[in-house]
Amino acid sequence: MTDSRHIRILDPRLANQIAAGEVVERPASVVKELIENAIDAGSRRIEVELEAGGARLIRVRDDGSGIDEDDLPLALSRHATSKIASLEDLEGVASLGFRGEALASISSVSRLELMSNVAEDPTGGWRVVVEGRRMEPRVSPSPHPRGTSVTVRDLFFNTPARRKFLRTEKTEFGHVEEAFRRQALSRLDIGWVLRHNQKTVHQLRPGDDLVGHERRLQALLGKAFLDNALHLDLEVGGLRLWGWVGLPTHSRAQADQQYFFVNGRVVRDRLVAHAIRQAYRDVLFHGRHPVFVLYLEVDPSVVDVNVHPTKHEVRFRDGRMVHDFLFSSLHRALGEARPGTQDEDGGTPAEAAEDAGSATPAGGEHRVAEAAGRWQQQPMALPGREEEGGQKVTPDRVRAFMEGYRALHPDHEDSLLTPQPAAPGAGGAAADVALAEREAQAVRPRPAMPAEDDTRAPPLGYAVAQLHGIYILSQTERGLVVVDMHAAHERIVYERMKTQVHGGALEAQPLLVPVSLAASAAEVATAEAEREAFSRLGVELDVAGPETLLVRQVPTLLVDADVEPLIRDMLGDLERYGRSDRLEAHINELLATMACHGSVRANRQLTLEEMNALLRDMERTERSGQCNHGRPTWTEMSMKELDRLFLRGQ
Ligand code: ADP
Ligand code: MG
Repeated sequence: MTDSRHIRILDPRLANQIAAGEVVERPASVVKELIENAIDAGSRRIEVELEAGGARLIRVRDDGSGIDEDDLPLALSRHATSKIASLEDLEGVASLGFRGEALASISSVSRLELMSNVAEDPTGGWRVVVEGRRMEPRVSPSPHPRGTSVTVRDLFFNTPARRKFLRTEKTEFGHVEEAFRRQALSRLDIGWVLRHNQKTVHQLRPGDDLVGHERRLQALLGKAFLDNALHLDLEVGGLRLWGWVGLPTHSRAQADQQYFFVNGRVVRDRLVAHAIRQAYRDVLFHGRHPVFVLYLEVDPSVVDVNVHPTKHEVRFRDGRMVHDFLFSSLHRALGEARPGTQDEDGGTPAEAAEDAGSATPAGGEHRVAEAAGRWQQQPMALPGREEEGGQKVTPDRVRAFMEGYRALHPDHEDSLLTPQPAAPGAGGAAADVALAEREAQAVRPRPAMPAEDDTRAPPLGYAVAQLHGIYILSQTERGLVVVDMHAAHERIVYERMKTQVHGGALEAQPLLVPVSLAASAAEVATAEAEREAFSRLGVELDVAGPETLLVRQVPTLLVDADVEPLIRDMLGDLERYGRSDRLEAHINELLATMACHGSVRANRQLTLEEMNALLRDMERTERSGQCNHGRPTWTEMSMKELDRLFLRGQ
């Protein structure tokens, strides 16, 4: 027994083993740390090799900078790093590592061998081994090509309690593969190999253009992901967001296939998740999860990565700004995915709904370059878009961007919480145009048949028949389109109602009996600080005591709703994200219900004119590719596909 009354300094190995508890959970965490070191060393090619799910052997080889002979023992000691030297460095850290902990921790719970060479001469190189109880590594010459190999054998051999927690080989390898996938997605420009028990699982060439990038995505996430993904690239005032987001119709039951990188670092962040969920909210089938691979690039100084030992979380200096930028970029990208956005040979939402390679009639061949084009976004010509170059991110810049965005989307529901011009005229020229356009559309007689001089046929074509009282059959330039008329109409009615409700002043109504709410001090403070935001939403909230709030007024649409949980959720959102979309979400839900009742029901006979009017409405309605529940509203078959079906011209 140790005498527990006396304080003593822990032996270094024990200290490292304790630290390893945080960083090294299983083979996948070792792989992650070793890969991060290889990336930090500027490697162009990284090979990961495993045996028995990583429990027996993990080896990561790279062709990076290598480690000097003198530095080799240091690399293995705790709090030894070449990446930062001062607190200032930490504030702008651009490398993945900086804590100097990984190698020390890993070597304390395994048999670790490190080989490295900083020179091009392949006969040079050094080797260092750590094993057993001794912590002092011994360095000896050993030929190695330029770069580093780290071999980790028998993970947790000396910590039986941890070894017991390892799962089956298959499960552990699954975790390793996911860690590998994340890293290989984080750096599309690096070449990668993953081998398990002598079999190659992934071999990925570096990709330096869109085709190369999408080749990587397809290899790691499958063809279905790419076929249904929208590529986007947007830069505003030093913030850049690029990558791929799945069409809402290609949602998944689990929240896998969600990858978000901040400056190349894999990040799981609540603020980011919230912004993305909000952008997808009313296009996604209930309970489904969107897929995405997104890269946010920001000045390292605006994001704090030293929040957690595994560095999975980050903290943004101005979270609200980042949230707004993400939300509006994605919301816009998704809103623009509608008929007419895709290229020749493009996919359709209905194809998207199918699983990979199922019902496509013939020729499952897939060209990556094509997929890139099919749902490609237009370059986003937003006001505030900056030229390339290291622009500083300032709240003002982003605010300017947001204003520009709003000017283009005066009906955007986001307008509820952000100051809006009182009169339509105050929104600037762009807003005027957009408003005028909408008004014109509202009164313009609907084209029943193609105008003679109109050379470009509309993307959804012209109706030729109604099928079984449910579908509209339309002939398009490329082939035919089938529309689910109820689903399509529902979306149109819904979007229109949203525009009306959120565009104008929200009608509010005092409650007959004000609702009293027991609140925390923080909630009371938020209520006071956000009074204006609440009143813009039609909510009047009074502080009735140090721990009591009084709800006096809510939007008329919600007088019958359960006010208390709604207000509480809104307060939570405002506190956490600086904004709340709960009430808006609630209103939208009601609108969706109303829209469903207000739209054409099945079995109603429509005239050709009515059908064409519906098609034209769809073309100009945002998100019209999905009904309010996320189901596709239309599908297209090209002449090529029809010809293939009938084996024509083969
Ligand atoms: P950190 O990455 O936080 O600095 P590590 O314990 O992971 O800490 O690594 C310690 C040091 O060893 C690094 O700072 C780096 O100088 C060196 N190092 C580790 N792996 C490699 C590698 N693959 N290539 C070059 N240097 C490496
Ligand atoms: Mg490291």
